[in-house]
Amino acid sequence: MRVVLLPLAAACAALAAGCGPIPESTVPDLSDRETIRVVSTVGMIADAVERVGGDRVEVDGLMGPGIDPHLYKASEGDVRRLERADVIFYGGLHLEAKMADVLERIGERRLTRAVTDGMPRSGLISVGNGQYDPHVWFDVDLWKGAVREIRDTLASVDPAHAAGYRERAAAYLDELTALDAEVRRESATVPPAARVIVTAHDAFGYFGRRYGFEVVGLQGISTASEAGAKDVQRLADLIASRRIPAIFVESSVSPRTIEAVKEAVRARGFDVEIGGSLFSDAMGTAGTPEGTYVGMVRHNADTITSALRGEE
Ligand code: ZN
Repeated sequence: MRVVLLPLAAACAALAAGCGPIPESTVPDLSDRETIRVVSTVGMIADAVERVGGDRVEVDGLMGPGIDPHLYKASEGDVRRLERADVIFYGGLHLEAKMADVLERIGERRLTRAVTDGMPRSGLISVGNGQYDPHVWFDVDLWKGAVREIRDTLASVDPAHAAGYRERAAAYLDELTALDAEVRRESATVPPAARVIVTAHDAFGYFGRRYGFEVVGLQGISTASEAGAKDVQRLADLIASRRIPAIFVESSVSPRTIEAVKEAVRARGFDVEIGGSLFSDAMGTAGTPEGTYVGMVRHNADTITSALRGEE
């Protein structure tokens, strides 16, 4: 949990009892603001904030379509945007690895929340060394925890409008419950032997755990390390020996490595299809169905299941 330290004058005004030490739990009351200014990192968070915040919030998302959050560095312009925000939401669990310093520095002055803060660590995928896989949005049920975190944070800074946040969040959570059921039904149509998702980096661990797929990534859970020739050969062996029908490229990662895998599989006398492009760490273009979290999940589920069933 991050706490906000208000500028001294504002803190004095906020505390009826006069000016003493600022309580650790002080959260500004922004109820009389026309709108709450939110800055967020990945698109999936911006989408959830828009859905929960409605007209009360103005959302500024830093990372658009095709942007890789693992490598993203905040520009000077981004820092100015963050400094003007009332609330900052980010993914946490080292998703925005290159923004850690900026987020920490700004977190001393601005209310800054990782949407994964409220998720019990026992529900996360451990990757060793006390670290967790940050791609929590691909377990739709788990992602509901992020929506609740956003709801509670917005309600705490804007208590006069808390009922609205709760109402909109409840509607969105219902939609996510239905989406989760839909993805489960769809996943069940893939024969068990074909339930393997091969992609460039390990973004689909939560998807696999929730919906019953084995997940094999060429890189680890971050894109920061380059996949080596050895990884390509290892993956090609696995695909050829198990006759996995399709592998996938990702919208925010270069397709080069996955194409190298396809070639290496062909050299082993087996043809693997590129089953399509998945949205891993960024959503699609705004205004398209994939430009929303629900549409992105649906696109991925459709792409994965139809390719692994052997359909075009
Ligand atoms: Zn990733």
